[in-house]
Amino acid sequence: MRIQETIIIEVDPTNPEEKKLKRAAEIIRKGGLVAFPTETVYGLGANALNRKAVIKIFEAKGRPMDNPLIVHISDMKMIREIAKMNEIAERLAKKFFPGPITLVVDKKEVIPPEVTAGLETVAIRMPSHPIALKLIKVSGVPIAAPSANLAGKPSPTKTEHVIDDLYGKVDLILDGGETNIGVESTVVDTTVYPVEILRPGGLPIEEIRKVVDVKTFDRKVGVPKSPGMKYRHYAPEAELIVLYGKREDVIRKTKEMAEEMRGKGMKLGIVATKASAYSGIDAEVVELGDSLEEVAKNLFSSLRDLDKRGVDIIIAEGVEEKGLGIAVMNRLKKASGHRFYRV
Ligand code: AMP
Ligand code: MG
Repeated sequence: MRIQETIIIEVDPTNPEEKKLKRAAEIIRKGGLVAFPTETVYGLGANALNRKAVIKIFEAKGRPMDNPLIVHISDMKMIREIAKMNEIAERLAKKFFPGPITLVVDKKEVIPPEVTAGLETVAIRMPSHPIALKLIKVSGVPIAAPSANLAGKPSPTKTEHVIDDLYGKVDLILDGGETNIGVESTVVDTTVYPVEILRPGGLPIEEIRKVVDVKTFDRKVGVPKSPGMKYRHYAPEAELIVLYGKREDVIRKTKEMAEEMRGKGMKLGIVATKASAYSGIDAEVVELGDSLEEVAKNLFSSLRDLDKRGVDIIIAEGVEEKGLGIAVMNRLKKASGHRFYRV
């Protein structure tokens, strides 16, 4: 990679400064890479209509070329230039754009094959974060942007995560503070009916079901049409084990396992909804919070945090699989290499 120095600019997340976004937009238009916050996680953006720029995204992340990218747009006119919207996609866009949902629709010719990994469909999203939305608008082009992390790592929810993974590999990072939702968008295939959830995410499936028929999301079979999902994802350096069930049982089992591992001389990390439940255990404990919103928001950050503290193994408390909890458990299952156990 040729880029050596990365510029980092602090931007007001509620009312982003025009001048700073113009500088970022200039880089996008010239074929460079800009990392920016969205309401879900930080994205690594390039001009979606420029092949060479798009290829740089894969190089910077070490992302396999058969894993397609999501294209971010700022208005409906931009969508129609790159995609053939069907009636279902229109309905979902009208209800949920801008927001944490991605629609898979048939693509138009202008989208280069690298963006969609050769597929005839393209994944489209209109982010609601003011920095993301305004950056796309000022750039005047659709922006292809996967999460701004090295392939396989937990997605970045803070600028420091982007710096850790991509410093020296991107031209500019827009620092807009912590992202709000913390898990990626819900990916919906609108080319079939009932629509299919390819990846659960920030918009709960229950919300989508109020607007269109949704094929039952099979948590085990997963995602044949979402090519990228076959890769290991979201994984910390440490080994990860997920325990789920009644909360008091999970806490008791975690304590038991913690003792056992400490006996083997392993440094232990615990990802807990409530840290005080683990007092008295010799472990690094990160608290996520009680609500599913807090758990989603703090999840990826907690995994990165424990890696920094040098733990060998992490035990994470699972959550109930409803609402945002479906996305949280999906990420935990993948991050743990499917080492999750009911207690
Ligand atoms: P990421 O950008 O890392 O959050 O991942 C984007 C997700 O969207 C991956 O799971 C991709 O496989 C999925 N995706 C992107 N484009 C398509 C498409 N045309 N069809 C199906 N899934 C897609
Ligand atoms: Mg990603």
